Amino acid sequence: MSFDVICFDCDSTLSKIEGIDELAKRVGLGDELSKLTDAAMNGDVALEDVYAKRLNLIKPNRADIEWLSNLYISELVDGVEVVFSQLAQHNKTVHIISGGLLPAILPLAKRLNVPQSHVHAVDIYFDDNGAYLGYDIDSPLTKNGGKAVIIESLESHNVVMVGDGQTDLEAQKVGAKIIGFGGVISRDVVRENADFFVEENDIRKILTFDLI
Ligand SMILES: [Mg+2]
Repeated sequence: MSFDVICFDCDSTLSKIEGIDELAKRVGLGDELSKLTDAAMNGDVALEDVYAKRLNLIKPNRADIEWLSNLYISELVDGVEVVFSQLAQHNKTVHIISGGLLPAILPLAKRLNVPQSHVHAVDIYFDDNGAYLGYDIDSPLTKNGGKAVIIESLESHNVVMVGDGQTDLEAQKVGAKIIGFGGVISRDVVRENADFFVEENDIRKILTFDLI
């Protein structure tokens, strides 16, 4: 099975971290907030119920986001750069679709030669001093079903989504196939419902599904 458009989740798929949880740890709110993220990724609570709560407690500033953007890159999952260069060689269209924070993810995308217009994530706003002002509360990616909304907007009928969480599985609703990636966090709900599943911690394994 070959696909025209290959979409990737970011947190716990391209990078080993959950970005918002790392920000929470940085400000001393780690345990409480990472439980919320995990519950949302397992489908036990609605993403929209945890999204505002986490960010309004953390209030990340511009320096926090720069720190996080470096962490995303230093914690890259094994094989990611090989996968992206192979997909580019085969002229595949690649998108990153994430409920994470856009300015933290853009440097990782740049490193993987993914254009900014193919990075879908939640924007965040700062004042002139770099203090937190808020986030894009209208982004579909702050809610369950948001990844399906983005995939539908790509207007392709031959899409595969690679990710670790419940919010990635939701892309099935608009006809995308799902490759569950369990290399960082292996979730039962994803293993049971994805079209394919990777247990290995090296994402090059997805190339064995004849994506290209
Ligand atoms: Mg994820």
